[in-house]
Amino acid sequence: MRDGGSRPGEFWFDLGDVAVVPLVETAQLLIEPAEFFPDIGDDRSPWCFQQPWFDSATGRLVYTIQSFLVSTGETVVLVDACVGAAKPRLRPEFDRQSDDWLRRFTATGITTADVSAVVLTHLHVDHVGWATRADGATWTPVFDRARHYVTGPEFAYWTSTAGTAAMLRTGEYMADSVRPLFERGLLELVEPGAEIHPRVRLVAAPGHTPGNVCVQITGSSGELLLAGDLLHHPVQLVRPDLSTRYCVDPEQATQTRLDLLAHLAESGTPLLPAHFPAPSAGRVVRDGAGYTFEAASDLVRAGQFTWRGRW
Ligand SMILES: [Zn+2]
Repeated sequence: MRDGGSRPGEFWFDLGDVAVVPLVETAQLLIEPAEFFPDIGDDRSPWCFQQPWFDSATGRLVYTIQSFLVSTGETVVLVDACVGAAKPRLRPEFDRQSDDWLRRFTATGITTADVSAVVLTHLHVDHVGWATRADGATWTPVFDRARHYVTGPEFAYWTSTAGTAAMLRTGEYMADSVRPLFERGLLELVEPGAEIHPRVRLVAAPGHTPGNVCVQITGSSGELLLAGDLLHHPVQLVRPDLSTRYCVDPEQATQTRLDLLAHLAESGTPLLPAHFPAPSAGRVVRDGAGYTFEAASDLVRAGQFTWRGRW
């Protein structure tokens, strides 16, 4: 499973017969608090305003952009696809990026042909990019043997007039990252609670976007909820009522967050949001009107994950 050559900071999550491997595209994206959270206020005393979630030098929130490989027996599922390479984007940090993410993918020993399923938790610019790459003047699927799963309500929204208008702030990523999947017959529209694999099940989480989902991963010795954009930053554990400026339905996003966090606090299942910096996963524990976050260290295995065919 593991071999030499790992870089500092590499790790993965061990769920027994399932491995969950973070594939980081950008480790630290610094964001002005009020950009995402207009109602965040000035109080920086809560626990979420410290390392690794807060950069005190700039007063900015720390976000990570990452995907997750879920390796289950002979099956490899990719959850989310980051920003992608060489794509023209309006946010400067996302514009025409390098292919470092693909190099990190290749370092696992998994090939693009080994990936049988790609789950797109929602169709935002930072979750779909590596679904395609440049091929001359066109965009071609990276995982061309994989079924790509997105929920029906999500696809319907982003192909509607309202969705197309909402996309203007980021650039028209549907055309270069999602439409090529559709045209090649690789896109499968599913229900928000669909089972992708006996170990991989979607969990409805509407609000951030209409068809947004989390992904429940169940291994023989543990489980994780890949939470996608249910939360962007742990300030939403301190204040679960805080939705982002970019949530399509902020009230619904709050209700979904309250419901799922209450369930996770009761079950003890660790939460693994897409944008939390390493080690990213933790169990939520009630603390007044909000929650604290206890790192799920028991699931963490240090070093480079390397696929040997067993997983
Ligand atoms: Zn996101």
